[in-house]
Amino acid sequence: MRFSLRAPLASFLVCLSLAGASSGSAYNGRPKLVVIVVIDQFHGDYLERYRDQWGEGGFRLLLEHGADFTDCNYDYANTHTAAGHATLLSGAYSNGHGIHANSWWDRQTKRMVTSVQDDGTKLVGLAGGLPGASPHNLLADTLGDELKLATQGKARVFGIALKDRAAILPAGFAGDGAYWIDDKSGRWMTSTYYRSELPKWISDFNDSKRAEKYLNKDWKDNSGKVLRNTVPQPGQEPSFYDLVAATPFANDYEFELARELITYEKLGSGPATDLLTIGLSANDILGHQVGPDSPEMQAMALATDRQLAEFFDFLGHQIGLANLWIALSADHGIAPLASVTKRLRIPAPIVSPGKLRAQVNQLLSRQFSPGRSVEYLKVFDYPVAWLDDDAFAAVKVKEEDAEHAVGEALKQVGLRDYYTRSQLARGDVPNTPLGRRFQNSYSPLGGWYVFGVPAPFAVASSTGTDHATAYTYDTHVPLAFYGLSFQPGTYRTHSEPIDLAVTLASLLGINAPTHAVGRVLTEALAASRRAENSSRPPADKRLHSPNSSDPMRPVSAVARGGSW
Ligand SMILES: [Zn+2]
Repeated sequence: MRFSLRAPLASFLVCLSLAGASSGSAYNGRPKLVVIVVIDQFHGDYLERYRDQWGEGGFRLLLEHGADFTDCNYDYANTHTAAGHATLLSGAYSNGHGIHANSWWDRQTKRMVTSVQDDGTKLVGLAGGLPGASPHNLLADTLGDELKLATQGKARVFGIALKDRAAILPAGFAGDGAYWIDDKSGRWMTSTYYRSELPKWISDFNDSKRAEKYLNKDWKDNSGKVLRNTVPQPGQEPSFYDLVAATPFANDYEFELARELITYEKLGSGPATDLLTIGLSANDILGHQVGPDSPEMQAMALATDRQLAEFFDFLGHQIGLANLWIALSADHGIAPLASVTKRLRIPAPIVSPGKLRAQVNQLLSRQFSPGRSVEYLKVFDYPVAWLDDDAFAAVKVKEEDAEHAVGEALKQVGLRDYYTRSQLARGDVPNTPLGRRFQNSYSPLGGWYVFGVPAPFAVASSTGTDHATAYTYDTHVPLAFYGLSFQPGTYRTHSEPIDLAVTLASLLGINAPTHAVGRVLTEALAASRRAENSSRPPADKRLHSPNSSDPMRPVSAVARGGSW
């Protein structure tokens, strides 16, 4: 009797699932989890430069079993961390998502504000009730937001990084959580934008003093040579950021959190595709100090390879590689050290932004307030000038004239050219590749500003280096995908970071983010997905149906099916 009752029910469930599987819905063939790894500062040529040195299962998983785009460049000039992370997940440039810098001059409060600071929130996980951070400045939504919309919130979306901006912006508005560290202690925190207290598993993680175990250690390269140590100076209170953040230990620490996040939040086991973004900040913190071509950066890249292999292995055991899509990119590259370019007789001016700012203010004072020294150029975050609109208002100079005057002064002190905010707001740029890159850098946020165009390889220090230009050393980044939907291979076709979110959205059968302008990288889709592209079912059939989110539905069986 029991069996006779159950058998029809079982047949019914099988019919339901078969109906779902045969509907041709791209969304039904979704992965359980999408992991997007954004290496903070990674030259686009590293994957090829060190190809013979990669171990098994790290970068080679993407290079040999995934789709690798070798010629991926940002098509904008403001190659900063916040902008890059926002670009990758929104599929738009700054003129779409609004994030054009890590921080900018705020006309209301008369101070520099960061891209994510939000005084309407508080930090969570750190005593003192300090102001927190949120994605409130984003002017576009992200891949995670669209995933949330398409699944009525069932998809779970998280972002982690050492830096707040690299955790928050990729997780979008609807993210379930974004976690970053307190620089001093290394403890993970979030803000009241997401929740009022840390989840227990993160409190436990912090209380188990995981950050401290990376102190008093030697960082050795593969030959055993000690490159750095994380030993605090006698009498010095240890700072995680100062001691650990520029070593591979910081990435180890981040991957520890990523593993626990996947385990405790049960990512990849829910009714919808989940999304996790991981911003690997340590690479950038080191790269600023030693330059992209140093032995330390090579050792860092090799360590990243080993860490990725371990993490992918964990994902394979936890979720199954067949149920995953992995995407890899970076938020920007970086300029070589001046000492390196000079040795090769490549012209590389070393500039002093402080001196340049003083010179520009001198020129402007002579022009607008003779006999009186005024700081018209408030902050020179080389090569971006943030203007004091009050100072210009006091001498009755309007924005357009003020920005033009600053731009001309920048040229007098050695910058090659300039683009003003008001010019970009009008869309008034020359029809050249560089003009387009600056147009894509425009944002209405951040008061009056002027983008200076520096000479290539110009850096603001004789010892360190930076990124913030439209040149290839800053714009060229890796872009690679792993997953059953991709046709493994090396693709030398044109690609941009904005293509990442658009391609993943298309394969998930969901809308691309609101301001997305990237393209679907159709050349890298597995044959079955390409065929599907040319005979896609009507849009309403592709939409996520309530049946397909039924937790009873054997999603993994469908996902592993022959159709993709
Ligand atoms: Zn960065």
